Amino acid sequence: MERTCRGPCGETKSIEEFPLHQGCIGGRAPVCKECKNRKGRERHKKTYHLNKEKRNQTWREYYHRSKDKIYAHRKIYDQENKERFADRDKKRRKEYYINNKSELRIRNKKNYEANKDKYLEQQKEYKKLNKDIISEKTKVRNRKQRIILSDNYILNQLKQRFGLTYKKIRQHPELIENHRQQIKLKRLLKQKKDENSTTS
Ligand SMILES: [Zn+2]
Repeated sequence: MERTCRGPCGETKSIEEFPLHQGCIGGRAPVCKECKNRKGRERHKKTYHLNKEKRNQTWREYYHRSKDKIYAHRKIYDQENKERFADRDKKRRKEYYINNKSELRIRNKKNYEANKDKYLEQQKEYKKLNKDIISEKTKVRNRKQRIILSDNYILNQLKQRFGLTYKKIRQHPELIENHRQQIKLKRLLKQKKDENSTTS
């Protein structure tokens, strides 16, 4: 079923495009949803600034009257949407960080410099309290670095085994890749040897 809109668009549209309205012909309003919404938006634009003060006043009065109710409602709402909000907040924080990276870095650095002693003290305290957890985490991290032959692991190997300094290694960055291949070869040979000794 179709009907012609009596609003500004004047188009003939499907009956579903007209808002439900009791008392109108066919239970539908004569003006289509689009025209109705547009009119609403225009009216909102025109009157929004005019009524701002009055609206704020009304809201303030309502707020003072119903503060407890509003907070209680808010609490339930927050509780019910906890996970969704956590996700959203995480996303927002990440976005904020990406968009303000350089500014944040400067601010954090300044903040750190200003409170350096406090932070160092906190760090010391934290390390003391979490000694076991930290050492376990370090172990896991080192093991992982050893398996994947990370740059850091290779760097440390070069430093410890050959007494090279970070500065020297940085002057010859190809050393890292080179040593990585050496270790890979050694590991492969050892693997082969182990396989042979178990089969024989
Ligand atoms: Zn219309």
